[in-house]
Amino acid sequence: MRAVVIHEHGGVEKLSYESHPVPTIAADEVLVQVKAVALNHLDLWVRQGGPAFNLTMPHILGSDVSGVVVEVGSAVRNTGVGNKVLLAPGWGCGVCEQCLAGNDNYCGDYKILGENTLGAYADYVKVPASNVFPIPEGLDFDQAAAIPLVFLTAWHMLVDQVKIRPGEEILVLAAGSGVGSAAIQIAKLFGARVIATASSDEKLAKAAELGADKLVNYSDHDFLAEVRRLTDKRGVDIVFEHVGKSTWEKSLKALKPGGRLVTCGATTGYEAVTDLRYVFFKELKIFGNFMGRKAGLRHALQFFPDKLKPVLDTTMPLADAAVAHQRLAKREQFGKVVLVP
Ligand SMILES: [Zn+2]
Repeated sequence: MRAVVIHEHGGVEKLSYESHPVPTIAADEVLVQVKAVALNHLDLWVRQGGPAFNLTMPHILGSDVSGVVVEVGSAVRNTGVGNKVLLAPGWGCGVCEQCLAGNDNYCGDYKILGENTLGAYADYVKVPASNVFPIPEGLDFDQAAAIPLVFLTAWHMLVDQVKIRPGEEILVLAAGSGVGSAAIQIAKLFGARVIATASSDEKLAKAAELGADKLVNYSDHDFLAEVRRLTDKRGVDIVFEHVGKSTWEKSLKALKPGGRLVTCGATTGYEAVTDLRYVFFKELKIFGNFMGRKAGLRHALQFFPDKLKPVLDTTMPLADAAVAHQRLAKREQFGKVVLVP
């Protein structure tokens, strides 16, 4: 098959479009012909490498997949050849205490497709059969690939972790990102009011289309000052963080007393300063978040395509993976960049 492979960590020049063997499946796995694979910031980190990554080379990136089942293992009962599917991007061992409790993302042996296993920048990919879900009616392959990782994560952050409630006010940072555009929609689904930030008025107009109630252009406005103005100095109930160092201090200050902050990443750096006075005087709650539960993705899928919508930025040929990586690195996108083999 054709695949985009890395032989060592580094810049986009390490992404090599070449031949690679088709994966061989076990009894509980399925082989999927990839129709579309969406990028995540994770892809850039895996490509660049670092202490957290211990990959077997050559490696194939790609965690967010839609496609057609072309082969199933002898023990597989939940899907069959010819089914149009999307894939949950992570899985646990299935038998430990955490997995049995449904907390697959707490499993000590948790795996992410394209990070801990060979990913989907390829014609074919294999996954455990329990990661295969039908594509919701009315969505094409490109749209379906734009769903899994960001909706799994944003759903876990807002529904399982901070338990968002009707009427609450939430600040969604960097609304143009995949998780940001998912968070706006989930917050609206639960009856919350959304203040969205983005770097341009063009991105903010798209955030408004997704349901954001109030908009802040952080390139020409201080987002903390704007949040205070827009909430009559109250602050917000929830901050949806994934930016990190450059926003962290102001994110904490944007919360009202008793407010909750949830974070799933730090694209601008993780060595952020936390002024503990704000945390204890205002009884702030800080939720860390890593991926999400497979059950949460399954729950979220019920709301597509009427109440939740995949947000597509651009679609490109798989061979142009380097161009796609650069688009993400420069934060030019609104929503998901999708590659098509
Ligand atoms: Zn487990």
